[in-house]
Amino acid sequence: MTGVSFLSMMSTLFPFGLGAWGLGLLLLFTAFLIHASFSISSGFYVRAFCRRHTKEKLIALTFDDGPHPAYTPQVLDVLKQYGVKAAFFVIGERIAGNENILERTCMEGHLIGNHSFTHKNTFPLFGRAKMVFDLCLCDSTIARTVAPCSGWFRPPFGVINPNVAKAVKMLKYQVAGWSIRSLDTVKSDKDRVVKRVVSRLHPGAVILLHDPLPDAPYILEQVIRQAVGKGYRFARIDELEASDV
Ligand SMILES: [Zn+2]
Repeated sequence: MTGVSFLSMMSTLFPFGLGAWGLGLLLLFTAFLIHASFSISSGFYVRAFCRRHTKEKLIALTFDDGPHPAYTPQVLDVLKQYGVKAAFFVIGERIAGNENILERTCMEGHLIGNHSFTHKNTFPLFGRAKMVFDLCLCDSTIARTVAPCSGWFRPPFGVINPNVAKAVKMLKYQVAGWSIRSLDTVKSDKDRVVKRVVSRLHPGAVILLHDPLPDAPYILEQVIRQAVGKGYRFARIDELEASDV
């Protein structure tokens, strides 16, 4: 339902003004829309792949905000050591100067997805044309450096509002969400991050991590070791999604 059709419904229900009940409903609806925008798993504006519904102990690792000249190669080293493939949602403007890292990421079998060109705080508020331009710039930068983009997109800050949803539909992206948020960018204790992720593991999980962090290689190695210890195996997010039922 659009905001306009909701308001016309409200004026039909409350022809003499909203009153307390109407105002309450309006506030509730506004709260719902805000929740829908900030909760990537709500699927209200567009469907995001957040987890696979399965009993198989198969999980996917995803990294946002790279490439980073120091930490992304260390993350790649850990993934290589354990033979795990992951997905990297890169920021287009961070590719310049780090082309070799993106090439390596691609060569080693990881998925490269779009995480916008600028990743500006105001990205969710961009007009549709500016948003599409930003996303296409990221796609073309990836394509120029390695290969055509995978078609996977993770919205900056996980926000999906009507404009983001329209851009996603126009560019035919597959949206990557998550079911386990590590909070690695806000928690200062790396072992608490590991504990948070490992304690939330479930079959079909999609884990959100960030590679441009000094603790990223440590957190990754611990998560892999402890997940394997619990009987989990790793798949790339696109492979996890492809086998979804
Ligand atoms: Zn991000």
